[in-house]
Amino acid sequence: MPYDSSWVEPEQFLTYKGVDVFHTYRDNDINSGQRSCWFTTSETCGEIVCGCDTDKCHHVFDVRCIPVFIASRSYEDNIKAAIDAELLTTSGHKFTS
Ligand SMILES: [Zn+2]
Repeated sequence: MPYDSSWVEPEQFLTYKGVDVFHTYRDNDINSGQRSCWFTTSETCGEIVCGCDTDKCHHVFDVRCIPVFIASRSYEDNIKAAIDAELLTTSGHKFTS
């Protein structure tokens, strides 16, 4: 059976200081819903696919792994704090996720 599988751009979560942050999706399927804690700084890196040329993806991260993460703060504010601290840049994250 053929199936329809087309490329869809991920929805943007935020953009801050030139860094774009996008949602990721369960099984990389937009119809399966957004991951609540996982985000990516690259449109081409998601839960399954990765455009990085290394073993470990530079772009997909769990917001709770941000070293300056504070649970009482919103995900948006935590991500902005990571960008302020240069832990998250246009080339990806600089922490283990
Ligand atoms: Zn990647």
